[in-house]
Amino acid sequence: MNEGDHDVVVIGGGQAGLAVAYYLRRAGIDFLMLDAEDRPGGAWLHAWDSLHLFSPATYSSLPGWPMPPSRSDGFPSRDEVIDYLTRYEQRYAFPIERSCHVETVERDPERLCLQLRNGRTFTARAVVSATGTWSAPYIPDHPGRELFRGGQLHSAEYRSPIPFAGKRVLVVGGGNSGAQILAEVSALAETVWVTLKDPVFLPDDVDGRVLFERASARVRGDFDQASTTTLGDIVMVPPVKEARDRGVLKSVRPFLRFTIDGVLWADGTETHVDAVLWCTGFRPATGHLRSLGVVGPDGRIEVVDQRAVEEPRLWLQGYGNWTGAASATLIGAGRTARELAPRIKAALQMPASFI
Ligand code: FAD
Repeated sequence: MNEGDHDVVVIGGGQAGLAVAYYLRRAGIDFLMLDAEDRPGGAWLHAWDSLHLFSPATYSSLPGWPMPPSRSDGFPSRDEVIDYLTRYEQRYAFPIERSCHVETVERDPERLCLQLRNGRTFTARAVVSATGTWSAPYIPDHPGRELFRGGQLHSAEYRSPIPFAGKRVLVVGGGNSGAQILAEVSALAETVWVTLKDPVFLPDDVDGRVLFERASARVRGDFDQASTTTLGDIVMVPPVKEARDRGVLKSVRPFLRFTIDGVLWADGTETHVDAVLWCTGFRPATGHLRSLGVVGPDGRIEVVDQRAVEEPRLWLQGYGNWTGAASATLIGAGRTARELAPRIKAALQMPASFI
């Protein structure tokens, strides 16, 4: 049974979904949000205990209501971000249904039909998918991985270094997750850091503010301001600086294959390993859109101005630069949502464009 028909349904109630909700409300558009979590916070609910933003609160705000400064003087903690998202959602009293995982989106001549895991059904004239990446962790293929009897954990599930104390741990991945997790695990365990190439460490005075400005400049085509840094380059947050001082920020190139209890290197030597921590990134969480036949093998969808080329009733928000400059950050989500809402409004006023 169809439980509700709306002009727009937003799938995902994390920072990207909230930013869209703010501008849909301002544009006077009827909408409903559906979120798989049972409470506000999106991916931040699953982040590890010590994770902090790498920008100050003033650079991490959603539209309308700025994030309060961090109580700890430094950059906001995971719990402060969750608190901010919770209070932001309450402040605007957005129409949101929780514990609602959208399983599939299907075409109807007039509408898109959303089928939920809990059996509920909704329809909409347009759908904004803002489901982030956290629920689609990526682990590269390494020969023999199925043979390895030690523990394996993706950064999506990692919470703290305590379970790894006294063990030998392989940390795989050369981005910010890899560097930050290596930094804290190496204080309690013996670690080997495996990266595809030498990691790029940013200067100590470059934080998320600078990265955001450079990413935006690159998308604008302003290459003088853009420099060659990317949002994946390593920000020297305090735990990473401290790990550098301990001399553990050295990485090696990937092993040849797994063995039963470790890994085999190109020079023929073997290392015994108790656990592997995969800090190898994420893919767009777009499984619910596969039923529309628009999702590529890497989870991406071809878009122009955040609108799916193959399904003009579908809009994408917050996944990365391909859905708008720095759109996977708090501040970038607001900027891209501000452009998205008038586009959706214009499309809703032209019924022919939805056929
Ligand atoms: P999410 O927060 O993942 O929200 C998506 C929501 O959609 C979730 O609630 C999810 O449950 C729900 N959902 C998913 N699939 C479905 C479905 N099928 N049906 C219904 N609901 C669904 N960002 C910053 O701005 N500043 C930083 O300093 C920063 N530091 C970071 C450091 C690290 C190490 C990492 C890994 C990320 C960092 N980020 C930072 C990025 C940030 O964590 C994410 O990019 C952000 O959470 C993405 O927001 P989102 O709303 O797009 O997705």
